[in-house]
Amino acid sequence: MTRTPGTTVKTTCPYCGVGCGVLATLEEGGAVTIKGDPDHPANFGRLCSKGSALGETVDLDGRLLVPEIDGSRASWDDALDLVAAKFAEAIAEHGPDSVAFYVSGQLLTEDYYVANKLMKGFIGSANIDTNSRLCMAASVAGHRRAFGSDTVPGTYEDLELADLVVLTGSNLAWCHPVLYQRIAAAKAARPEMRIVLIDPRRTMTADLADLHLPIAPDGDVSLFLGLLAHLADNGFVDEAYVAAHTSGIEQALDVARAQDLKDLAAQTGLSVTQLEQFYALWAGAEKVVTVYSQGVNQSRNGTDKVNAIINCHLATGRIGRPGMGPFSVTGQPNAMGGREVGGLANTLAAHMEIENPVHRDRVQRFWKSPVIAQKPGLKAVDLFQAMGDGRIKALWIMATNPVDSMPDAGAVEAALAACPFVVVSDIMAETDTIRHAHVKLPSLGWGEKDGTVTNSERRISRQRAFLAAPGEARADWWQMAEFGKRMGHSEAFDFAGPAAVMREYAAQTAFENNGTRDLDIGACADMDDQAYDDLQPFQWPRPARDMSISPDTRFFANGGFFTPDRLARFVAVAPPQTVPDRTGHRFTLNTGRIRDHWHTMTRTGKSARLSAHIAEPFAEIHPRDAKLLNIGTADLVRVESARGEVVVRALITDRQREGTIFVPMHWTDQWASSARVDRLVAPVVDPVSGQPALKNTTVGLSRFEASCYGFVVSRNKPAMLRADYWAMARTVAGWRAEFALAGAQADIRDLVCTLLGLDPATPLLSLADPRSGLTRYAAFDGVRLVGAFYLSDRPVSVSRNWAADQLEQDFANLSSRWQVIAGRPASDMPDKGAIVCACMNVGINDIVGAIRSGCSSVDTVATTTGAGTNCGSCKAEIRGILHEHQIIAAE
Ligand code: SF4
Repeated sequence: MTRTPGTTVKTTCPYCGVGCGVLATLEEGGAVTIKGDPDHPANFGRLCSKGSALGETVDLDGRLLVPEIDGSRASWDDALDLVAAKFAEAIAEHGPDSVAFYVSGQLLTEDYYVANKLMKGFIGSANIDTNSRLCMAASVAGHRRAFGSDTVPGTYEDLELADLVVLTGSNLAWCHPVLYQRIAAAKAARPEMRIVLIDPRRTMTADLADLHLPIAPDGDVSLFLGLLAHLADNGFVDEAYVAAHTSGIEQALDVARAQDLKDLAAQTGLSVTQLEQFYALWAGAEKVVTVYSQGVNQSRNGTDKVNAIINCHLATGRIGRPGMGPFSVTGQPNAMGGREVGGLANTLAAHMEIENPVHRDRVQRFWKSPVIAQKPGLKAVDLFQAMGDGRIKALWIMATNPVDSMPDAGAVEAALAACPFVVVSDIMAETDTIRHAHVKLPSLGWGEKDGTVTNSERRISRQRAFLAAPGEARADWWQMAEFGKRMGHSEAFDFAGPAAVMREYAAQTAFENNGTRDLDIGACADMDDQAYDDLQPFQWPRPARDMSISPDTRFFANGGFFTPDRLARFVAVAPPQTVPDRTGHRFTLNTGRIRDHWHTMTRTGKSARLSAHIAEPFAEIHPRDAKLLNIGTADLVRVESARGEVVVRALITDRQREGTIFVPMHWTDQWASSARVDRLVAPVVDPVSGQPALKNTTVGLSRFEASCYGFVVSRNKPAMLRADYWAMARTVAGWRAEFALAGAQADIRDLVCTLLGLDPATPLLSLADPRSGLTRYAAFDGVRLVGAFYLSDRPVSVSRNWAADQLEQDFANLSSRWQVIAGRPASDMPDKGAIVCACMNVGINDIVGAIRSGCSSVDTVATTTGAGTNCGSCKAEIRGILHEHQIIAAE
């Protein structure tokens, strides 16, 4: 549905699993104004930098707008007929397990539901898996082992009510910023609240922490085993809860007690004092929430980590009551919705189990389907390996970019290239994945699509359309339903719209469910379309048989687990075996997110202000490691494993644990020459959940030897093919790019024209100083700067954000053009430096200037500069800058 300009639509942010409510207003002329929804219970009006910039990502630049077959425009009918014919052919010749869907936590629940129904109930295979496998499959498996169901017991409010919040493997400040802000506000109101951060890196989240435990990679199981033993040995076990509602504590304690504190210190890389401090804090706080996300899940023993945490909460009965419980925070906006409708290869719809014949029968009867998958399908890593060895003949990818995000991404790309038939549904025309598609199908993007998502606290919210569908783009659920009809299942896939899909899904959650399954939203089964459109955010369960909705939707305070005997299970997990390293490399690679980009940047990469925070891929390296390897500030470095290499900028910081490296996951071949970090990662998975270990790969590190380094700003998209290293980002009026050359350049002027997309005869302003190795060029078109080029035999020194801003300036005054050549503003002109606050466009130089003029707190810096006064995501960095500069001032 398209709204008229001026109307404000309540919708939901499409990025992280916090699931913030958004007010989107379509303005006259097409601009979109974004505000946080003050009534949404996830965020109460707050948004982070990414959410605030949503209006800058909805343009049609680069969008896929029509279906294509083999690169040529096609009609929807022709494209879908071909897809159906190819899938039918593969199924007829090789069986239903020769085809697969690889979908995404970006899909809406309605999209996911139709895709899962089609694959498991009508094709008869469970080969549908999702990029959520990379995100939180270990949490799903841990929940199911302990609770008998994939239930998140608590709510976001618990994070505010807790006396102790333990954040483990979670850089909440950057990855779930609004939750971080909620905790920060709670701590400001109750300073006695304690926060512990468990992370090998001292991330920005440490800003809030009373205690940071820089744990060794994968030391979490040992840490929580030690905690369980400490709780038991010091009288903190809630005997009544354990006796009434759990089983298996003895076996879990046997394993936990097998190690003493010295063993645990060796396994965790922490001191005995740190362990004792943490255990005393945890034991002494009745209201404790343990929050965990990808640092726990993305591990070869991720499920054991989850159960090691849950064991401690079960032992103390600290679960399901206000301010208490284990709390898995999902990375994606609808990872939870996908889990609910069975988007994982090893689950059925509506939280039913594929291994359970009663559940299979029930699902099949509900769908009236001709078949039902009899066994789990291929999980993500297995799926692409099966494709690599020829077992998968046809694959449909929706809303995800596995060529960049999967481990062993080079092998994934090779498998896709060799697959006989690949369909990709996406919003973008150019991604590293879609270039391998035989059929490209244009999907609706955020603001255009209509449906529901579930956030990390089980809250279902509407994503509402307020923009017209562009070109011939169509909803993902519609694409799957049309495909289903062409596969001969017209009646089962005859959905009038997303509301009809939701009604069916809601009815399925209630089908033969008498309280024995956690997920029940039967109250939504009879909603009419208007009620669906008006649906307010709510937490499940919301069963039809009980219309009086309890305000407390927590689970398990009084037991009632979803195992056959309704008892929770302690799981006797053990520390992982040490895997001998035979690579000869000595660094541990950790991957993850940065504050202002999302996944593979197909949307956030469009925003100049989000790109201004960190504009280039980097490797965080501890100073001692850098010194040993002769790596200097802003050098380029090569990070390599047996599977490949990336070249990124060195960021030398003691935030990083010695012997470890952090490289962000966002940069693809669309944005950089060689920064697809998941190419380096081995396809090692957690054996229980199948989740890949994306945070612990052994790699080598060395300086990248460049003959010269360059930087350009340009109105045209820079053509980087001649550079040995490059990384580019959007600016308000064009582009900026870093580059480096490995060999000598004979004709610099020719290089300038090539990079900037200029005619070779274009007049150029230039300066070359052979003694200092500096070369600079600028091109103007009338009074406008077209491009500027800076080259040096060292990492080039230019005020980058200032230079990018010059693309918007008027250069009628000819002498001012030399300032562009200088690469920095005149002394009487402001230079913001690197952007810290993306919302208010405040740079580090502004903040340092404020500190030098007497600001001594985040609040006074905010008052003086405006930094941190909108979404607040940058406050931790401001505090870091304050700390650094106040120390310097005091020295
Ligand atoms: Fe979106 Fe930020 Fe909220 Fe996550 S925290 S849902 S990215 S606004």
